[in-house]
Amino acid sequence: MKVSIIGASGNVGSESAFSLAEMEYVDELVLISRESSIEKIKGESLDIYDALAAMGTDLSIETSSEMKQIEDSDVIVLTAGVARKEKIERMKLAKENAGIVADYSQEIFKYSPDSVVLVVTNPVDVMNYVALKKSGLSKYRVFGLGNHLDSLRMRSFIGKHFKVHVNEIHTRVIGQHGVHMVPLMSLTAIGGIPIKDFIKYEYIPDASDFDVENTIKKVISAGSEIIGRKGATEYGPAFAISDVVKTVLKDEKKIFTVSAYLEDEIEGVNDVCLGIPAIIGKNGIENIIPIRMDEEEMERFIKAYNFVKENTDMVMEYLHENRNSNS
Ligand code: NAP
Repeated sequence: MKVSIIGASGNVGSESAFSLAEMEYVDELVLISRESSIEKIKGESLDIYDALAAMGTDLSIETSSEMKQIEDSDVIVLTAGVARKEKIERMKLAKENAGIVADYSQEIFKYSPDSVVLVVTNPVDVMNYVALKKSGLSKYRVFGLGNHLDSLRMRSFIGKHFKVHVNEIHTRVIGQHGVHMVPLMSLTAIGGIPIKDFIKYEYIPDASDFDVENTIKKVISAGSEIIGRKGATEYGPAFAISDVVKTVLKDEKKIFTVSAYLEDEIEGVNDVCLGIPAIIGKNGIENIIPIRMDEEEMERFIKAYNFVKENTDMVMEYLHENRNSNS
């Protein structure tokens, strides 16, 4: 199976390259960067080969600034774009990154129109929309990573609080990958027990101390905190990416929260990309699952919709006016 990473010289791109290279079913990895960073990605590939030799596995890694190299990829991971700094909202990157994503998306259509494309560049919900419109690929084959990472963070925080293995935490964050994310506490369960019941178990240490609002705040600011402390997020996004890519390559039909193009699956939410649970398989999104929310969650979801829609329209207009583009 062939996987290409565009923006492979960056923190997320290079860490993803390593986590994807470790997968036994990836046998061809293509790392794409700008010409100015070609030495960096060549170095990455040599470093990865050393690690693979130690692990006793092998694959072919191509490095290039030529988009032709992505031809016939099964999956393309798009991470190229300016990264945010601490306390800078992802949406501030929208105009600058839209141009980068638009250009690469057109090239993706040219060289590898049958690929599944995972958009990572922020603000991911808006960039996913740009990639979808500019690539001309089907809405099932282009989707974004964002709320899957938020959901993993939520699981980790809840597991640590209750001192329960992370696999026992079932939760989901949907909506925007940003301040308007919607953590679905109404559907969160620990070992199958709804969290609202679990916190009433007085004999479980720390159960009653669980602060829902504070946990939500921590998930929202998790990325910013990591960027503030170490300069970038790497392992979390990289392993969230490889989780999703593996599901596509192995046609696993796992349910992940991805940024998907919505057309009234949730009443009144149209022509926008937002995080929603979807069954992921070899064709990308196999099915979107219109999830049930309580009243407060629905209100937050509609706020996310309004915010992302407004910014998406602004960015598409900007691309149209400034880049003489075709949509
Ligand atoms: P980074 O280390 O700064 O890397 C940025 C990458 O984009 C580099 O490969 C860089 O290439 C490339 N790039 C920058 N400007 C470009 C341009 N004008 N044309 C073509 N390529 C360009 O950033 P990062 O930490 O890897 O993050 C990459 C993106 O992913 C950011 O937008 C970030 O916000 C986003 N992100 C998303 C998630 C998520 O969950 N969706 C999580 C983490 C990060 P050069 O080396 O040539 O400069």
